[in-house]
Amino acid sequence: MTDTANADLAALIRTIPDFPKPGIQFRDITTLLLNAEGLAATIDRLATMHDGPFDLVAGIEARGFIFGAAVAQRLGTGLLLIRKNGKLPGRTVGVDYALEYGEDRIEMHADAVVPGCRVLLVDDLIATGGTALAAIRLLRKAGAMVGGAGFVIDLPDLGGVSKIEAEGVPVGALVAFD
Ligand code: AMP
Repeated sequence: MTDTANADLAALIRTIPDFPKPGIQFRDITTLLLNAEGLAATIDRLATMHDGPFDLVAGIEARGFIFGAAVAQRLGTGLLLIRKNGKLPGRTVGVDYALEYGEDRIEMHADAVVPGCRVLLVDDLIATGGTALAAIRLLRKAGAMVGGAGFVIDLPDLGGVSKIEAEGVPVGALVAFD
């Protein structure tokens, strides 16, 4: 077993300047995933951040799948996949949302939730909050109740957390970067 209590997660996240384009400080969680203690601490902290119980964990493509699956296993729930447009094979429900340039769409299987089921939303990082907000709208459209949102990383300067709080969803992040 690994000792997760003192893991310094911020120190395990690598910053790559100017990726994928100039001016972006990319917060790279692959170095955190490589570290056994860091990975275990991340999952422990995400799984205990919000009061349960939860019926399902929802992970946002793609890095949210990694953390979401482990948190679901830890909480004893199933995992719901929120995917980019056109990836899911069954009947879907979707939400369009604005990006810095243009629009995007996320989808989930229409029959993935029973009405009123309580979902914990998980992703690697919240920046502007646009993706997470779209995911909350999508889950609500499908009949779910979003009982919490958890992120490994918050970029507080971009204001995403307050947008999620304004929706009445409890939100937390394990690490903040300026
Ligand atoms: P947003 O919709 O602006 O909150 O952006 C969140 C999504 O974009 C997450 O799924 C992240 O994986 C990705 N993302 C945004 N900014 C960064 C960054 N600086 N480093 C790594 N991933 C990022």
